[in-house]
Amino acid sequence: ELTQTDYLIGLEKRYGAHNYKPVPVVIERGEGVFVWDLEGKRYYDFLSAYSAVNQGHCHPRIVSALTTQAQKLTLTSRAFHNSVLGKCEKFLCDYFGYDKVLMMNSGVEGGETALKLTRKWGYLVKGIPQNQAKTVYAVGNFWGRTLAAISASTDPESIDDYGPFLPGYIIVPYNDLETLEQTFQADPNIAGFMVEPIQGEAGVVVPDEGYLRGVRELCTKYNVLFIADEVQTGLGRTGKRLACDHEGVKPDILVLGKALSGGVYPVSCVLASDEIMLTIKPGQHGSTYGGNPLAAAVTVAALSVLEDEKLAENAERLGEIFRERMRAIQQKTTLIETVRGKGLLNAIVIATDEESPLAWQICLQLKEKGLLCKQTHGNKIRFAPPLVITETQIHEACDLIEEVILGV
Ligand code: PLP
Repeated sequence: ELTQTDYLIGLEKRYGAHNYKPVPVVIERGEGVFVWDLEGKRYYDFLSAYSAVNQGHCHPRIVSALTTQAQKLTLTSRAFHNSVLGKCEKFLCDYFGYDKVLMMNSGVEGGETALKLTRKWGYLVKGIPQNQAKTVYAVGNFWGRTLAAISASTDPESIDDYGPFLPGYIIVPYNDLETLEQTFQADPNIAGFMVEPIQGEAGVVVPDEGYLRGVRELCTKYNVLFIADEVQTGLGRTGKRLACDHEGVKPDILVLGKALSGGVYPVSCVLASDEIMLTIKPGQHGSTYGGNPLAAAVTVAALSVLEDEKLAENAERLGEIFRERMRAIQQKTTLIETVRGKGLLNAIVIATDEESPLAWQICLQLKEKGLLCKQTHGNKIRFAPPLVITETQIHEACDLIEEVILGV
């Protein structure tokens, strides 16, 4: 007899495109650090929708901002002003210390906007000859699924059979300042370098201490815009408001998304100085839904929660405990090759090659035990719970992970 779970998974398989391979669990409800399936079984959510749900599932303040605004006004488009956008824009600029913000919807649109701004700035301010602007990215980068984004990708799964790609891209090794400087030196038409302070999708790859400071210095020295993609690392996830704050550097363009809405609505944004932002004039960029009243109301609530509940501080403290527990497990098995991360963005690398199904099997076993996570690039398992998690809950989750890993 077909269970409701099998039925619903079957519907997705029959009628939905097969562009994901989900863990076979059907989630019906979420609250804080937990989600529940159709049978009422409770799980720790250790993915947080790829770090969008930093504030925890269905945070009452954020949901209330959404529902209250939804009963008043949802969308005007930017053809008219709305009564919420300006307040949200001021909030964002004050909060992050930038002159101006441009709101979009998905993370990848934030990246696209940053790239378009960078090119405009390259031509109008830096004086690069028309259509000659180059932008630099790091090996292993991930900034989404549009053609501009995958044109920067070095992951065959993301790019195969999607060509031709966008020109004007240069790819350099991650965490390598020497090559970056040589690249900047060799080409005066470079307008920007877009980089993740920690590479999330690549498997939580943490660069050496000083890398971001070095990037900042080189970008300043060669008049190249430093674009930080903090869509995944930002907003408390790594133990500071921004991952760049760990090294005290300020990017020229900051891209945010995901947790900007705490997971209740798609919101992204790009922050920059007047010099950069005002290169785009009316009619030259936009989005029907970008900066709509719902997004604006939700964003202010989501950032206020981050601040009021001191979620970055919590991530910093509990992240230490989490990695300590993982390293203790590592001592007892040869299965874990590496433990790495910052704050509550962490990963373990399973000692197999990327083709091995072992990490996937571990995720399935963790699901049975009541903890949800997903492997990335075959043998890496990312652990990123909502930042509202408590110390007791972190230990309970680590107990589950330990049981599964030592039982393999
Ligand atoms: N940038 C980074 C660093 C990301 O991790 C992601 C998504 O995982 C994106 C951009 C793209 O965001 P979205 O999926 O909302 O387009």
